[in-house]
Amino acid sequence: MFVNYSSTESQRLNSEPHGSAAGFSYAILDSIEQEIAVIQKDGQIVYVNKAWVRFGANNGLPSVDWLQSNYLDICAHAVLSDEPEARDIYAGLVAVIQGMQSDFSYEYPCHSPQEKRWFLMNVVGLTGHTDDLFVVIHSNITQRKLAEQEVERLSLLDPLTGLANRRHLMQFLPSEWQRNRRDGTPLSLILLDIDDFKRINDRHGHVAGDECLKQTAGLIANNARRPGDLAVRWGGEEFLLVLGNTPQEVALHIATGILDGIRRLESDAYGCCTVSIGLSSSIPADDNFEALILQADSALYLAKKEGKNRVMRYTPDAR
Ligand code: GH3
Ligand code: MG
Ligand code: MG
Repeated sequence: MFVNYSSTESQRLNSEPHGSAAGFSYAILDSIEQEIAVIQKDGQIVYVNKAWVRFGANNGLPSVDWLQSNYLDICAHAVLSDEPEARDIYAGLVAVIQGMQSDFSYEYPCHSPQEKRWFLMNVVGLTGHTDDLFVVIHSNITQRKLAEQEVERLSLLDPLTGLANRRHLMQFLPSEWQRNRRDGTPLSLILLDIDDFKRINDRHGHVAGDECLKQTAGLIANNARRPGDLAVRWGGEEFLLVLGNTPQEVALHIATGILDGIRRLESDAYGCCTVSIGLSSSIPADDNFEALILQADSALYLAKKEGKNRVMRYTPDAR
């Protein structure tokens, strides 16, 4: 029996299977992948585990004598050389050392020329020595960060068409709106609805309907070419194309091109389809970008009312 489970406060070795208790503890610390250092109040490093040494060796510091190094000085040097995040890390470290907070955690990118990497840094007082010794732990959290980024990317996409979804639009449009407001440039919206789409579904089936949505989306996406443009699946068979820094005449030309492109689409799956388009443009003067969406919507309503398969521009008297 190696472990005494009788106490709930600690688990302690009764006998030592691998030499002294200290040697056993160091072996454990050398077996884990996190990089661990223990520092004094003045920053002097008094212990590093094997992973710490290995990380230094793999990152351009092959022959550092860590026990002759001062971690506070290293961090202060990083602040002076303007490394991003260094200021936050230094401040957090000092706050724990000076007893202003009990621990500090910080996630930061640290990309190498070969790969993207992120790390988590933890600083905490050493149990039993919380006033004068501090444990610094670096963990590589790259896998988690990459997974988080992938989740974020997917959360902004419409899965069927691969276009941006509404959530993405609501992140994108307010900032693009403000950019055009600052620059005094016009922003245009193209709101598009497939005509009689219910009939396509009813006649050719839902899979054919999906194919029609994908092809329509592809044509719209081809017209979102600049950083200020975004092609969005707005709803079931409705799409929105945001065109930053685009006057109404240019947007009209693009809308007409989409209308013609969709008329020319022919598919074995669903035959042909047409679309109706509402267009609105404005040089932003306030925060109310929703008003421009409503204007495109009322122009679209008019396009449907006038017989579908056409582009209508918003005019204030459009009903
Ligand atoms: P209008 O010309 O007036 O726009 O008529 P419409 O038939 O296009 O419009 P309506 O709103 O009556 O029907 C839209 C249909 O779109 C109903 C809905 O079942 C279908 N739909 C919505 N999302 C999807 C989808 O992801 N895939 C498929 N296949 N159909 C969808
Ligand atoms: Mg519709
Ligand atoms: Mg429709």
